[in-house]
Amino acid sequence: MDIQFLGGASEVGRLGMLLRQGPETLLFDYGVLPKDPPQYPLKAPPVDIVFVSHAHLDHSGMVPWICGRQDANVILTPVTSNVADLLLEDSLKIADMEGYESPFDDADIQATRRNSRTVDFGETVDVGSMEVTLHSAGHIPGATMFEVNGNQTTLFTGDLHTLTTDLVRGAKPVPCDTLVVESTYAGRNHPDRLKTQYEFLRKIEEVNRRGGLALVPAFAVGRTQDILLTLAKGKFDVWLDGMGKTVNGIYLHNPEYIRSAKDLKHAMGRVRVVHTAHGARQAMQGEVIVTTSGMLDGGPVIRYIEEIREDPRSAILLTGYQVEGTNGRRLVEEGVVDIHGVDVKIQCEWQKFDFSSHAGHNDLVRFIEGCDPQRVVLMHGDNRELLAEALEGREVLMPVEGQWYSL
Ligand SMILES: [Zn+2]
Repeated sequence: MDIQFLGGASEVGRLGMLLRQGPETLLFDYGVLPKDPPQYPLKAPPVDIVFVSHAHLDHSGMVPWICGRQDANVILTPVTSNVADLLLEDSLKIADMEGYESPFDDADIQATRRNSRTVDFGETVDVGSMEVTLHSAGHIPGATMFEVNGNQTTLFTGDLHTLTTDLVRGAKPVPCDTLVVESTYAGRNHPDRLKTQYEFLRKIEEVNRRGGLALVPAFAVGRTQDILLTLAKGKFDVWLDGMGKTVNGIYLHNPEYIRSAKDLKHAMGRVRVVHTAHGARQAMQGEVIVTTSGMLDGGPVIRYIEEIREDPRSAILLTGYQVEGTNGRRLVEEGVVDIHGVDVKIQCEWQKFDFSSHAGHNDLVRFIEGCDPQRVVLMHGDNRELLAEALEGREVLMPVEGQWYSL
């Protein structure tokens, strides 16, 4: 068996991994690096089949490019299929708005829909002499690990979370010979989730007490729902704006992929949804607004920042990792946000909370030990050596993009 990374081995983003055994070529994930304009992985050769671990565009954003050029089936869970479709359509709109050329068009997205074969956790897909079984990766609802049984057992994790959150149950180790595992948080651990939730809710109380509004930028997919479930533990007047609204609907239509549809429904029931400009003005009178984009690059969040940025009583509460070059990163590092092409200083308070949906360093080590592989392939990380050091005694491979490795 041979593998090659088309992207996303030594960095986080634009992941794509080819796996070749005999005459078959499998592709796992094919994503973009979300920058402006996005950066793309190496061009994929002809493949027999594409497996998509989850909807986030750094894993799915280039799948239409394949489907527009080759007649390969795409294997993914139903919830991943629905959410990816939404994000891919949105990425075309963004390309249009920002004035760069997308590598695929609407016809390619339609081809992706036609080629998609949805499969549930626990089910198996035959590819030539191999069998591929889907397992939950715990990262967001529908996120999948693929267990490939050929002349050896290989597990590809995609993005991985091993701890159970309010939204989704943590992933369980799968015994394998070769483990291809993400390493986003190599060398770093997360603070305790319950403590983070407590501090987040207390901060909102503090902001509201002094008469301010808590603006919570959150990614539409996964994070928004996690935040709504946290907010349901308090008694706030919460408003929801942005694409997270549509994703909530998709999750509730696929209840078997979330930890508790009842809890998410309950959390949604406590939230008022912004549909119009009038609604947005009403939301400004509320206590909390949850909205996209999570990294402050476009979306309704910009309008709300304009409203509160000079109000020392209000606060921006970031809930996710802020990628270099994004507005969110500029806020954290320089106290400045680009609004419609103009750098404006943010005078209200801001704070970052760690609601990560990736396994931390110690969680990764425990998961790897649970899988007990002969060989560990570290991918999807820019600090992989820190994880390799913790795996002393095991064969560890840190592939570079573009090179074939025989396993
Ligand atoms: Zn992800």
